[in-house]
Amino acid sequence: MFFKDIAGKSEVKSNLKRNVEKNRIPHAQIFLAREGCGGLPMALAFASYLMCENKTDGDSCGECNQCIKSHKFVHPDIHFSFPVVKFGDKKRAETTSDDFLPKWREILTDNPFMSTREWLLHINAENNLPNINVKECNDIMHKLNMMSYESENKILIMWLPEYLGSEGNRLLKLIEEPTDNTYIILVAENQDHILQTILSRCQLVKIPNFEPHEISDYLIRHQQIPAHKAQQIANLADGNLNQALNISKNEATDYSDMLISWLRISYKSDPVEINKWISGIADMGKDEQKNFFEYGLHFFRQFIYKNLTKSNDVNLTQKELDTANKMESIIDLSKAEAIVALLNEAVENINRNINIKIMLFSDTLTIGELIRKK
Ligand SMILES: [Zn+2]
Repeated sequence: MFFKDIAGKSEVKSNLKRNVEKNRIPHAQIFLAREGCGGLPMALAFASYLMCENKTDGDSCGECNQCIKSHKFVHPDIHFSFPVVKFGDKKRAETTSDDFLPKWREILTDNPFMSTREWLLHINAENNLPNINVKECNDIMHKLNMMSYESENKILIMWLPEYLGSEGNRLLKLIEEPTDNTYIILVAENQDHILQTILSRCQLVKIPNFEPHEISDYLIRHQQIPAHKAQQIANLADGNLNQALNISKNEATDYSDMLISWLRISYKSDPVEINKWISGIADMGKDEQKNFFEYGLHFFRQFIYKNLTKSNDVNLTQKELDTANKMESIIDLSKAEAIVALLNEAVENINRNINIKIMLFSDTLTIGELIRKK
């Protein structure tokens, strides 16, 4: 992973690089980022940069002996630890991250922005409770106390220290009195779930969410998604690149067109048209249904914001902005607020697995009455 593969976050990157240049790298750091916001990629890019023998343009070179291994996640001095479950016939107490390394390298190659749930799906463990166990902690101490193999530095990247139970306290000595040139990076998503003893001994590096334009640039460059669509997805993804990637894979539909059709059909309230539209939505997967209603929420929240501030400085594409401008003559603030409440309820109902057709029929009639009201 290169720093340049992670959009934005320039302040975090330059601080990390400065620490390397000035040889002032903290021995234990916590990279704190929300899910899908680049904590693990940042740790991978940092590890490659630290190991690289030929750093160029503020990044690892990708070509030296160290880079060839670190970029494939097979560098013998970069150790990984992450939550796992029992492996094959092994007892859970005997299983460690090492048993899952091939799977780990696969998912890092495919998508290092992955969520915990996606990792568990990848190792067929979605119904198990993963953790980082005692044997893992003992192995880490052993690995980091050994001589390094190929570099003068040793690095441990632990993804999700939230899954360390109290056995995490076994690592305290390592964190407090590390061997020379040993660096520990804990990549966390939730500060409240990290052992206080560990948290207080590490330097905290807060990694901000992605900006919408960083997400849309990424989608345009890496996923070849058209610009207006990429912007729409980025606005929906709330700073989470992984969520944006999932939305872009799931949907073939333009949600803004769908939303406008729904409002138009609601206004006319022709039962035949309503039923056709409802069948279309009912045929979509649950995730896509949710994405649609969340899109509606996003649109109407921006619509309300625009209405209140009388400004066009909102998170909408030009096409959406045009729609919003046209809509203002029919939908006022109180109607928009009522629609937001209804959409919120719809998302909750989908999560509760209610009958979507019945819900949509009633919601469509309600919205129709609402819009027609003078
Ligand atoms: Zn290199």
